[in-house]
This record gives sequence, structure tokens and C-alpha cells, in this order.
Amino acid sequence: MRQDDTMHLSFEFFPPADQAGRDRLITVAQKLASYQPNYFSVTFGAGGGKQQKTFDMVQTLNAADYQVMPHLTCIGLKREEIAEILSFYRSIGVKRILAIRGDLPPGVDHHDGDFNSAYELVEFIRNTTSDYFHIVVAAYPEMHPDAKTVEHAVDYFCRKAALADEAITQYFFNADAYHFYRNLCHKKGVDIPIHVGIMPISDLEKLLRFSKVCQAEVPRWLVKKLSSYQDQESVVQFGVEFITHFCEKLLANDAPGLHFYTLNQIAPTCDILESLNIKIPVANA
Ligand code: FAD
Repeated sequence: MRQDDTMHLSFEFFPPADQAGRDRLITVAQKLASYQPNYFSVTFGAGGGKQQKTFDMVQTLNAADYQVMPHLTCIGLKREEIAEILSFYRSIGVKRILAIRGDLPPGVDHHDGDFNSAYELVEFIRNTTSDYFHIVVAAYPEMHPDAKTVEHAVDYFCRKAALADEAITQYFFNADAYHFYRNLCHKKGVDIPIHVGIMPISDLEKLLRFSKVCQAEVPRWLVKKLSSYQDQESVVQFGVEFITHFCEKLLANDAPGLHFYTLNQIAPTCDILESLNIKIPVANA
């Protein structure tokens, strides 16, 4: 057991391109598994030809006996295609799904799929598979770019959360944003855990590139601070210290758990866990 076995811990991977990559990722998973996470999640390329890679990685982790949660985006997919994917996951014993909308590629403003929001996807999963899947949804403490108003976005999240079991946030770097958002959700009756998505920092350029793709905010002060370092080692050291402090603040204020966007790396996620004093259980050390 982890020291604090009530705290949720999960790790996100993106699917490698080939078998060699999957073999490498299994080594990463082995190391992270010693922390006894609740699950590993595997991202899914919305509307792209890379979806088979997700199925392959999910199967690899599942065959290695790890708890695995595939991400499933609905944009551009037909009901029958979603049903087929769900049925495949059921056939191999996968019980958790992160149900998300996904995004159209840049410059594309139309799709031929049957669903336009994660709410519709979650509703479809519930209607067709009842309570089989533990459904996880996305949350945005700093607001999704499509949010019209905070109230509108929170009301929508409440409707989605009412059909789901758990939520994971987009990453962010301001603990107050989480508390403000979570309190609004609680006041509106959301009772599922909202785990915090944690993006470790080890490279400013990569962070900015990734944040552009997923439309996450990186505060100006953080960009300036990170760009002031002359060497990578100092960036990594600052990143571990800052994210550790950030996690401590969130956990001290009752965040129920942490979901690490690992980018398929052992470090810096493990360095942050160590610095948080989240120990590998003795049996696994
Ligand atoms: P939705 O819940 O449908 O909506 C997004 C936002 O739009 C809402 O927050 C709300 O502000 C607004 N909105 C939508 N409908 C309504 C409505 N009816 N009324 C009011 N407001 C509305 N993308 C991938 O392609 N692959 C992945 O594997 C992936 N994994 C992710 C994992 C996590 C933890 C997170 C947080 C995001 C992930 N994404 C992934 C990104 C995600 O697909 C995008 O952020 C996408 O733009 C929105 O997906 P969603 O499920 O939050 O959408």
C-alpha cells in the first residue's frame, strides 16, 4: 500500500508508434507501478489513423496485468464505431474509460461523427453498457477555450459529472483556480472526485509546444522564470521543486488525488513523488 492509501494516483502515457516503443514504455510502467497507482491511462488520437496504437498499448499494459484506462474521443466517430471500441475493451476486461470529445484538426470545422460533446459520449456509454464502465471525464479549472461563461461551463460539467464516476483536470499551475472551480462544482452538487492533472516541468520549449496543442495556460511568470535558467539541470531542479510545492498545496486543501501527464518518462514524475515523500511500498522497493 502507498503511505496514504486513500490518495488517488494515476499516470498517463501516449501510445508509442511501434513494438520497440511499447517495450520501452513497459519498462517505464514497471518502475511507476511500484507506487501502486490506481491505473495507467493511454491517450487516443481524435479522428486520426493512430487509434490502433492506443488499442495496442492498452492491450500490452492489460496483458502485463496493469489496471489500464484508455482515453476515448468521440469527434468524427459514428455510434457503431464507438460501440465496437467499447465492445473490444470489454472483451479484454478493461473496465475504465476516459470519455472525452477530442478536437477537430486545425482548419477543419466539420465532422461526420454522431457526437458533438463528451456529455453525449458519456450518455451513450451509460445507455449502451449501463454501469459496466467506470467513466472518467475531463474538467477545466481554468476554463476550456469553448467555455462561454464560468457559470455555463460549470453547469455543463455538472451534467456530465452526474453520469460519470470521476474527473481529471487539464493541467494548470495555479492552485487557487482548482479550489475555486471545485468549490463551485461542489455547491452545484458534484460529488465525484476531481483529480488534479499534473504536468511535470523539465523543458520550457516542450511545455509551451504541448500547451499550445492542448490549449492549456502557462503563466507568464513561469515562462520568464524558466527561460532565465542557462542550463537544463536548473530547469529540471526548479520544475521538481515548484511542482512538488504545487502538489502539496493542492493535497493540503483536499484534492483527492494526482494524475501525472508523464510524457512516457520516469523522471521527473518519480522525482516529484519522492520529493512529496510518496514512498514506494516496502514490498516493491
Ligand atoms: P466537452 O466536455 O464536450 O466540452 C469541452 C468544453 O466545452 C466544456 O468544458 C464546456 O466549457 C464547453 N461545452 C461543451 N458543450 C457544452 C454545452 N452543451 N454547454 C455548455 N458548455 C459546453 N484529447 C485527445 O484528442 N486525446 C486524448 O487522449 C485526450 N486526453 C485528455 C485527457 C484529459 C485529462 C483532458 C483534460 C483532456 C484530454 N484531451 C484529449 C483533450 C480534449 O479532447 C479537449 O480538451 C477537447 O477540446 C474537449 O474535450 P472534453 O471532453 O472536455 O469536451
